[in-house]
Amino acid sequence: MTVRTIRRIGDPVLRRRASEIDVSEIGAPDTQQLIDDLIDTMRDANGAGLAANQIGTLKRVVVMEVGDNPRYPYKPNIPLTIAINPVVEPLDEEMVDINEGCLSVPVRGVVPRHVNVRVRYLDRDGVEHDEVTRGLTAGTWQHECDHLDGVLIVDRVVDTHTFSEWAEFEVFHREAFVERISTFVERTGS
Ligand code: ZN
Repeated sequence: MTVRTIRRIGDPVLRRRASEIDVSEIGAPDTQQLIDDLIDTMRDANGAGLAANQIGTLKRVVVMEVGDNPRYPYKPNIPLTIAINPVVEPLDEEMVDINEGCLSVPVRGVVPRHVNVRVRYLDRDGVEHDEVTRGLTAGTWQHECDHLDGVLIVDRVVDTHTFSEWAEFEVFHREAFVERISTFVERTGS
């Protein structure tokens, strides 16, 4: 098990575009090790997802997993997902405001995300996937894939008054957000 250092905002690696992984490289030991490091580091930090930029590697791979996480009781479960060269495509114009945090950023903020997206990616065995994902899960995909393009939540927040440190989010904003988003999750089922 290897837990790597999570890079924080200000580190230039978070602002660079990660490169595609050649299909012939997916089975290579260093690619598989990178994937294992991402999973170990995400789980150690109790994160919902992690992109390779966040551990300092400019390769297009993200991992996501949401179990019954006390940090996000409102988040629908996501089974462990490894996405290589992911492409996210909005399916329509419907948007939802999500209060998001990031392991690389000390503040949370409200970010508009597409509700319905198509995701295409390769898994760690090189198998192609083409899926439709919705709701908060679609938001997680958009958040993680933004990292691969050097984009952070601070770039996506429209109303800067929504910025909040984690402790202040708990005190001042969590209840209203969880109430609103729980209704949304019930409606979208994800
Ligand atoms: Zn993030």
